[in-house]
Amino acid sequence: MDHSATTAVDPAVREAMIPYFSEKYGNPSSLYTIGREARRAIEEARLKVADLIGAKKEEIIFTGSGTESDNLAIKGIAYRNRKKGDHIITSSIEHHAVLNPCKYLEAQGFKVTYLPVSREGIVNPADVESAVTPKTILISIMHANNEIGTIQPIEEIGKIAKEKNIPLHTDAVQTAGKIPLNVDALGVNLLSMSAHKMYGPKGVGALYIRKGTTVEPLLHGGGHERNIRSSTENVPGIVGFGKAAGLAKERLPQEAKLATLRDSLIRGALEIKESYLNGHPTKRLPNNANFRFSYIEGESMILNLDMKGVAASTGSACSSTSLEPSHVLMAIGLRPEEAHGSLRLTLGIENTQEDVDYVVSILPEIVNKLRMISPLAR
Ligand code: PLP
Repeated sequence: MDHSATTAVDPAVREAMIPYFSEKYGNPSSLYTIGREARRAIEEARLKVADLIGAKKEEIIFTGSGTESDNLAIKGIAYRNRKKGDHIITSSIEHHAVLNPCKYLEAQGFKVTYLPVSREGIVNPADVESAVTPKTILISIMHANNEIGTIQPIEEIGKIAKEKNIPLHTDAVQTAGKIPLNVDALGVNLLSMSAHKMYGPKGVGALYIRKGTTVEPLLHGGGHERNIRSSTENVPGIVGFGKAAGLAKERLPQEAKLATLRDSLIRGALEIKESYLNGHPTKRLPNNANFRFSYIEGESMILNLDMKGVAASTGSACSSTSLEPSHVLMAIGLRPEEAHGSLRLTLGIENTQEDVDYVVSILPEIVNKLRMISPLAR
């Protein structure tokens, strides 16, 4: 129940990748047969990834991860538009793959506005509008949050960005393959994706760059990916991403049905006294439930759940080594001790009602046990 951290590679994805390791191993830039085969496979994958988000094939740049896509979007736009302005608008609940490039740019003299969110974790489009200055060169607001699953009003923000003629980037790593996505409906210029969140391999991502929007490359080399991302393409990874994107599009109805399991999980967990749901009750990913249980530590809950065979997370997996309370939970106004008592359960297509019933049946015992030994409990 930690599918927002990563997912298993689908067997069909693995099968599609295998020939590209040792059999059709050519360099896609080579002119002979296995090179051309690899090139063709990349272009087919590009088409499928583009199709998942309603983009044109030429608008997809393959990268090494969601993190790289976010970096390319943010630093790429900032460096390209430095003469026009130096101001970026983002939110306080972005993934570190967005926040840290922004901080890096701040150290180089750029100015960044980190917008607050509501108690339920939603960015107010009116705040975006009032943060715009004549120097604003980029708005970057995530599509759905990886911890609390809240889905942001990107369409509305897209209208504002278009009206003000400012490029809009969205980190869609948690939504691509989970909910229907269309770059025109969203009104975005740039959109980040990652294969390993949609039953594809780790270490491959993509950045959608709308025709007419240009970014400064971060890697300089042989001119691959239309000179935007040099380096010999990760052919098996890209093929796997393409296959995963094709399957994800077909499986969107299955992903949507996870909301029923999620709601059953939420109902069950909230039966426990002094338990609360973090995030928005309805504007959230169909697979995300995030709770807080007073007086206990999320980490202890994770370990106890693990002993019972359940994989869960507190905050996001990416920051689970840090003792700092999650910046997302702090941004929605929780106190540090409340943030520390949070538990994220994220469902995937292999989860069943039995899995949910099992978790709901073991949670009260775990929570009670931890409260008994908690110095915070009354
Ligand atoms: N953005 C969001 C919202 C994420 O959830 C993640 C991964 O957890 C990333 C970016 C980073 O993606 P990757 O693991 O492919 O670098």
